Amino acid sequence: MSTPKRRYHISTIGCQMNKADSERMAGILDDMGFESSEDPNIADLILFNTCSIRENAEHKVYSFLGRQVARKQEKPDLTLIVAGCVAQQEGETLLRRVPELDLVMGPQHTNRLQDLLEEVFQGNQVVATEPIHIMEDITKPRRDSTVTAWVNIIYGCNERCTYCVVPNTRGVEQSRTPDAIRAEMEELGRLGYKEVTLLGQNIDAYGRDLPGVTPEGRHLHTLTDLLYYVHDVSGIERIRFATSHPRYFTERLIKACAELPKVCKHFHIPFQSGDNEVLKKMSRGYTHEKYRRIIAKIREYMPDASISADSIVGFPGETEEQFENTLKLVEDIGFDLLNTAAYSPRPATPAALWDNQLSEEVKRDRLQRINNLVSIKAAERSQRYMGRVESVLVEDQNPKDNTQVMGRTDGNRLTFFKGDISELKGKLVQVQITEVRAFSLTGEIVPVRETVLVP
Ligand code: SF4
Repeated sequence: MSTPKRRYHISTIGCQMNKADSERMAGILDDMGFESSEDPNIADLILFNTCSIRENAEHKVYSFLGRQVARKQEKPDLTLIVAGCVAQQEGETLLRRVPELDLVMGPQHTNRLQDLLEEVFQGNQVVATEPIHIMEDITKPRRDSTVTAWVNIIYGCNERCTYCVVPNTRGVEQSRTPDAIRAEMEELGRLGYKEVTLLGQNIDAYGRDLPGVTPEGRHLHTLTDLLYYVHDVSGIERIRFATSHPRYFTERLIKACAELPKVCKHFHIPFQSGDNEVLKKMSRGYTHEKYRRIIAKIREYMPDASISADSIVGFPGETEEQFENTLKLVEDIGFDLLNTAAYSPRPATPAALWDNQLSEEVKRDRLQRINNLVSIKAAERSQRYMGRVESVLVEDQNPKDNTQVMGRTDGNRLTFFKGDISELKGKLVQVQITEVRAFSLTGEIVPVRETVLVP
């Protein structure tokens, strides 16, 4: 009789980088002979990949762990792991608070999961949070989708935004080589993936740490050069990238996006605040005028481009007038999507120590006001799709209606239409849009016409 496979459960909160890391770690566990389990309560290994950007995220970690620690009392061979930014930040403190933990590992150690676990299986409690140099990535992530995949191109961030924990937790910028990125994309193309999102906390910094300059004195390897370099990878039909920083967004990059057909005409460029004083206090290094110029330039080259962003309201000391400047920017630009958050102080960040924090009430009120405006503007932006024929990459069945499939337009709008997933998954199809909502669309598939040759 064969021994049953040991099961693992991964729970992930936070940004796309965290999700990509989780997939990578799932790939390692699969290779180690584990089997994935949706239900944490029957798993032999629990991995909690954490995020410390939002305050309640840490509470979530402790409440989740509480339940699993209770299970460990009945099942001493249960392995408990905390990974991600909370792990990086808290390190040994986490072990002191939750002594049942087996492994605490920062995001830079993702690829070392197997080595770290081997130490754990020898009976050690392991803390891996010291910075390491990222070695070329040979791990194959197990991807949650079979159609779209993430590819990390740069780790870490050298910026010092005063509200952000990333520089403390993910270390300095380290770019992967263009050849390694291309090789990973080629492998994805061979496996049948159709869309790749290139990822970095500050993706425009790509290549600054790689050697070489052009005769004009520009870095030899930039995001723009990388897009040209990977554009013809066979099998990959769409390329996206995130997250962009307005400080480094260049016209050269905009031109490349306009010129390269596989690069989606969708730009995610966080502005965070529409007020120059607040931007200065955030140490973002640009003004709202510069941000507006970037968007105008994108629209000059690609009038239909869809634009999304992130914004923080209720930053320490933000006045009503300064908040209104943010509303004005939202009104003027008309975002297709805006991720909003009320400021929450994060440990070991400069802004957390300032004594001009706003009350929760003011923050809540501002969040509600900006969200109302975002929905109105997104609904207006959606109108332009009505009646149009859009290219949709089919990703899955609609979980709420199994007669429908769902996918995304080039501009990243979620789109539903009637169809059979077994036939359509991973296909780029033409869909005529018949219904528009603020953040999603419904349509009908446009049959491909047979060409009739008239003699
Ligand atoms: S650019 Fe700023 S907000 Fe983004 S990861 Fe770096 S420090 Fe954080």
